[in-house]
Amino acid sequence: MASNSYRGRLAPSPTGLLHLGHAQTFWTAAERAARHGGTLILRNEDLDPQRSRPEFASAMIEDLRWLGLRWNEGPDCGGPHPPYSQNQRRSLYLEAWRKLRDSGVLYPCTCSRKDLAQAASAPNDVDDEPLYPGTCRGRMDASSFQHPAGENWRFRVPEGEGVCFEDLRLGHQAFIAGRDFGDFIIWRRDDVPAYQLAVVVDDAEMQITEVVRGADLLKSTARQILIYRALGIEPPQFYHCDLVRDESGVRLAKRHDALSVRRLRESGWTSEQVVRA
Ligand code: GLU
Repeated sequence: MASNSYRGRLAPSPTGLLHLGHAQTFWTAAERAARHGGTLILRNEDLDPQRSRPEFASAMIEDLRWLGLRWNEGPDCGGPHPPYSQNQRRSLYLEAWRKLRDSGVLYPCTCSRKDLAQAASAPNDVDDEPLYPGTCRGRMDASSFQHPAGENWRFRVPEGEGVCFEDLRLGHQAFIAGRDFGDFIIWRRDDVPAYQLAVVVDDAEMQITEVVRGADLLKSTARQILIYRALGIEPPQFYHCDLVRDESGVRLAKRHDALSVRRLRESGWTSEQVVRA
């Protein structure tokens, strides 16, 4: 029985097979939850209907089990439980969209991909999205929209303001809104809530006290801190893990099939070797 108020989570997206990088991040998350005598939650981040597949969700559970990970809440835990799949939690995201709309930090954006490619400045960081130049800021009255569907909705970042946090592994982190990242999408035109919004709503609602994730998401953490602020919610603590790279230094992605947990296991690796590689 969990003795402590620590609540951590594993939040994989079923858009491909888990790879070595996921395995190590999730292992760290589980280890930290265990060390604190806390609760670990598995949340299926299956919001994107084009990219999420049920067969990847089952593969991910099987791979996590094979790695030796155990969780206390979420899919495959037995018994009645609240929904731990994001596609069953839309009403919570919608409620947050309404709050943010009412507080004036959102605006609908009608820019096409082509507009964006022409106008946006390149990011400093190759892994990141281009800075949105704010073309649609103030163009339409957000309060006249009863529902987000049909437009991309962006969060207006406080231009030039610092967003800082103490990472539990990396120490002090500081980003400047409008320079390190621009106005970001929180709801998609095809009526899919964006990762940034869903993850904040879920981490808050599931009372997560510590988020363990890959260092590729440091800037996303800064974006999310702005959402927490706008919703008036205290953010959790953050622990960003080192990224695993392939032999040419490229950060692992789902396309690195050969380094997926599944393939490594088939080629004879033990779970111990996978998490320590
Ligand atoms: N589903 C996200 C991913 O797999 C979760 C990231 C996070 O930990 O917030 O990248």
